[in-house]
Amino acid sequence: MRRLVIVSNRVALPGEGAQRSGGLVTGVVDALHHSGGLWFGWSGKLKSARSPPRLVEADGVTYATVDLTRADYDGYYSGLSNAALWPLFHYRLDLVNFTRQDFAAYLRVNALLADTLAPLLKPNDLVWVHDYHLIPMAEELRRVGAAQRIGFFLHTPFPSLGVLAALPHYLEILKSLCAYDLVGFQTIEDLTAFHDAIVRRAGGEVSADGRIHAFDHDLRSGVFPIGVDPDAIADMAARAVKSRTTRRLHESLQGRKLIIGVDRLDYSKGLEHRFKAFACFLEDYPEQRNHVRLLQIATATRSEVPEYCALRQRLGALAGDVAGRYARLDWAPIQYLNRSFSQHSLAGFFRISSVALVTPLRDGMNLVAKEYVAAQNPEDPGVLILSPFAGAAYELDAALIANPFDPGAVAEALQKALQMPIEERRERWRDMMEVLHRNNITAWRESFLGVLGSPI
Ligand code: ADP
Repeated sequence: MRRLVIVSNRVALPGEGAQRSGGLVTGVVDALHHSGGLWFGWSGKLKSARSPPRLVEADGVTYATVDLTRADYDGYYSGLSNAALWPLFHYRLDLVNFTRQDFAAYLRVNALLADTLAPLLKPNDLVWVHDYHLIPMAEELRRVGAAQRIGFFLHTPFPSLGVLAALPHYLEILKSLCAYDLVGFQTIEDLTAFHDAIVRRAGGEVSADGRIHAFDHDLRSGVFPIGVDPDAIADMAARAVKSRTTRRLHESLQGRKLIIGVDRLDYSKGLEHRFKAFACFLEDYPEQRNHVRLLQIATATRSEVPEYCALRQRLGALAGDVAGRYARLDWAPIQYLNRSFSQHSLAGFFRISSVALVTPLRDGMNLVAKEYVAAQNPEDPGVLILSPFAGAAYELDAALIANPFDPGAVAEALQKALQMPIEERRERWRDMMEVLHRNNITAWRESFLGVLGSPI
């Protein structure tokens, strides 16, 4: 078996991933344990001067991390990655804050990471690079002589050409992507947008099976929707409902139905639209007042990017407005928490929720949608309300699909979910579980690595 090398912006050292283990962490750690391997990336720490990588071995996996300087962090991470590429890839041109200095820092840090990684590579390694922070990595590794197979997976959406072209260096980004041997996306829409840009702006050729010839390179491309481990989540949820935390939440409801939202506090998640839609629901269906509660968990992230602080303030005010308008002496319609919970606690919360509101304005996949479904009680499953702009909607078409830009549609979906007969709930849930089992995290990893490692 070939050794696997994972490259991602942030490496979760052993023990670190437990609190907030997103899909990437779970999928990657499993894969590395399976084949043995190396996980390379930023340590999450800042240093005043560059230092050699730190190597840690645990359970057959080598973790190699580098620290960044403050200037690297500001330009590469907070700047180009999170203030330019992230909003651009999520269709928020109004929030793109591009500077040439940040772009230079992005290239510089990618080159630095490649210089550090190259000596750690073995000739037969399979190298798998993750996400928008590291698009130039293959080009930089090739520059220092790496001849290994290198694949790239984009966890975010890939925007259509009209949006992509707003990035001054978008052709360089396309060229960097074409330096990989395989480029993978979450949905057919992302893949099609990439092909369209290659054909129309880079003069490349794309064949029906996803093979691409562009910038003097041959590569492959495809759709590999990231999954979860539904059985592990189901087990965890079944145990978690008995925990003190979940029981406390359950008792506090006093028989009311719980509607849950769990997100990072990010403008792509559509939280303002969600709060307004919930107010619209309380307005349109007054008989539901006092019978439901919206629990919105929104963990603050990227607080050094100004837009995130502004969003946090607006959301706090909006949650206060909704509560102020509809609360009664013995009922609060909305419970809004800016903290994170363990995966175990979240699984318990999901299981006792009658409805999940997963209504991003744009999202690569949205693993919360899949986690919610996997955590349900098969006898009495809750209902998933899902935005068509989440990658998950391409697979979970048995969810109630509601456009987050239409508060009336989300309000209607809430009413339908709360009144849905048990048979329909079970049928929709079974359909979704079948998809989760078929496209689970192992299938994601094996299908990507299968193509990356296969003869060209
Ligand atoms: P993103 O990658 O944009 O954050 P996803 O929904 O794809 O969105 O993945 C988020 C992951 O982080 C999920 O596994 C989810 O359970 C976890 N998560 C999100 N919000 C919280 C929170 N408040 N506390 C703990 N985990 C969270």
